[in-house]
Amino acid sequence: MTRLIIMGPPGSGKGTQAEHIAHHFAIPAISTGDLFRAHVRDKTTLGAEAGKYMDHGEFVPDGITTAMVSQRLEEPDAGAGFLLDGFPRTVAQVDALEDLLSAKQQPLDAVLALSVDDDELVARMLRRAQEQGRSDDTESVIQRRLELYRDETAAVVSAYSKRGILLIVDGSGDREQITAKAIAAVESALTG
Ligand code: AMP
Repeated sequence: MTRLIIMGPPGSGKGTQAEHIAHHFAIPAISTGDLFRAHVRDKTTLGAEAGKYMDHGEFVPDGITTAMVSQRLEEPDAGAGFLLDGFPRTVAQVDALEDLLSAKQQPLDAVLALSVDDDELVARMLRRAQEQGRSDDTESVIQRRLELYRDETAAVVSAYSKRGILLIVDGSGDREQITAKAIAAVESALTG
């Protein structure tokens, strides 16, 4: 059983890394953003509630988010472990996840944090914006998203750092090499 979290700034390739890392460990990659979007698409009660916040780029309240994650972790495929992507994002969510997992005696194994230089992130996002013909991804908007990410995650990163389970992985360079580095870091944490 491998229980992991992945964190990384916008433009760090976190979603792609999550898929590859989860595949290696034969666990599901669980993205709260994807789960919320599926609820919105399926027009569930939860989707209607969450959509109100998502439309404004705000966080969905912790209670709603944690209940959804709790339910997802009860699905059979999560019995072998999981890689959470996009959760936890607040300290309240860190604590709620801790309570949830300790009730099941399933502690987290590791929290992966992809680190990429801001300059490289901006360059990557600008390149992507150009390739996709998007005019809204200007340098100032990108800088703002990076700033928000830092504000949003600083406390979460520090909570896991204090717990001694934070693994910082250099996220610049070749996609496959980054995946290999992340997997190696988790494997060495697992074998202690
Ligand atoms: P994402 O795809 O991760 O950018 O998430 C899309 C939207 O879903 C966010 O802007 C939030 O409104 C909501 N969301 C995703 N994960 C969380 C979370 N852990 N806590 C609160 N809201 C979340």
